[in-house]
Amino acid sequence: MTAAIVAEDVARTYGDTVALDGVSLTVEEGEVLALVGPNGAGKTTLVRALTGTTDAEGRVELFGQSPQSVARSRVGLLPQSFDPPDRLTARELLDYYGGLYDESRDIQTVLADVGLQDSASTAYENLSGGQQRRVCVGSALVNDPDLLVLDEPTTGIDPAGRRALWRLLERLADGGTTVLLTTHYMAEAERLADRVGLLDDGELTALDSPRALVEAHGGETRLTVDVEDAIPEPLDIGFETLRRDGQLVVRDVPPTAIGDVVDGLTEAGVGVASLSWREPDLEDVYLDLTGRAVGFSGDAVDPEELDAAGPVSTDGGNR
Ligand code: ADP
Repeated sequence: MTAAIVAEDVARTYGDTVALDGVSLTVEEGEVLALVGPNGAGKTTLVRALTGTTDAEGRVELFGQSPQSVARSRVGLLPQSFDPPDRLTARELLDYYGGLYDESRDIQTVLADVGLQDSASTAYENLSGGQQRRVCVGSALVNDPDLLVLDEPTTGIDPAGRRALWRLLERLADGGTTVLLTTHYMAEAERLADRVGLLDDGELTALDSPRALVEAHGGETRLTVDVEDAIPEPLDIGFETLRRDGQLVVRDVPPTAIGDVVDGLTEAGVGVASLSWREPDLEDVYLDLTGRAVGFSGDAVDPEELDAAGPVSTDGGNR
C-alpha cells in the first residue's frame, strides 16, 4: 500500500532561521498523526511543506505523487490562519468551497458534521470564534478528502466544541481517512493520534505511539499532597519525597501504597488537606523532551515557574 505521506529530509530556512532541519516521516493510509512542539518549532512550516504550500528542500510524496500533482480532491487542508470572506454565511462559505471541486459532499451533511446546522444562516462575522473555526474545518471536508491536514484545528474552540470535533475526527479516521494535525493540546494528541511526532527547533525529536512515548519519556507516577501543617525536617515516612511550596510530591507510588503515605504523614504530625495521584502522560513527555511545560496557549512556559521553587530538599526514605 502506498503511504499517504512520505517526507524525506525536508528542510526550510527563512533567512538565517532554520525552520525545518531535515525532517523525515511516513504517515500510512488511515493513520492519525499529531505533531506537537513549542511555538516556533516548525509545525506550520512542516504542514506547508508537506502540502506543497511552501517550497522546501527534500522529498515529499502524497499517495506516491508530489504535493503539486496529487489530485486536489484527495487532500483537505485547514491552514492555521484562514480568513474566509466574513459577510458570507456558514452555508454559503461551504457551498463556495465545495464549488471549487468537480464533486463535493452534501453541504447540509458537512454542516451537521461540524455541528453548525443551527447557525448555517449566520454570517461568518457573527459566529463565535469556535464556530468560525468549525466552518474552517468544514471547508477542509467538503471534498471528502482521503488525507486531511489540520493545522491547529481546535485552537480557540470551547471544550464542548473541541470534544465534538474530536468525535468527528475519530469517525473520519474510523472510516479510513488519514489525518495529520498539529496541536497544542496534549490531551488531543493523546486521544486522537496513533502516533505523535514532537518537533523542536525544526527537528523531529520523537515519533511514536502516545503509549510508547509515555513509557520511554513520561517518568514515574506522582502523588501530590497538600499538607495542613509545617513539614518537619527531616521527614521520614518511608518514601522519598520532594517538597515544594507547601506540597509534598512522592514519585513512583503504586495506588495501593497511597494509604501508607498518608499514615506516614499522620504519624509525623502532618495533616493531609488533599492529595492527587496521576500517571505520567504526554505533558510529561513534552516536558522531558523539550525542557518546557505546555502552556495553555501553547507558549512554552518555564517549568521553574510552574514548579515554584522546585524541589527544595529531598528526604531520603527507606524504601
Ligand atoms: P510553529 O508552527 O511550530 O509555531 P513555524 O513553522 O510557524 O513554527 O515557524 C518555525 C520558524 O520559522 C520560526 O522561527 C518562525 O519564526 C520562522 N518562520 C515561519 N514562517 C516564516 C516566514 N514566513 N518568514 C520568516 N520566518 C518564518
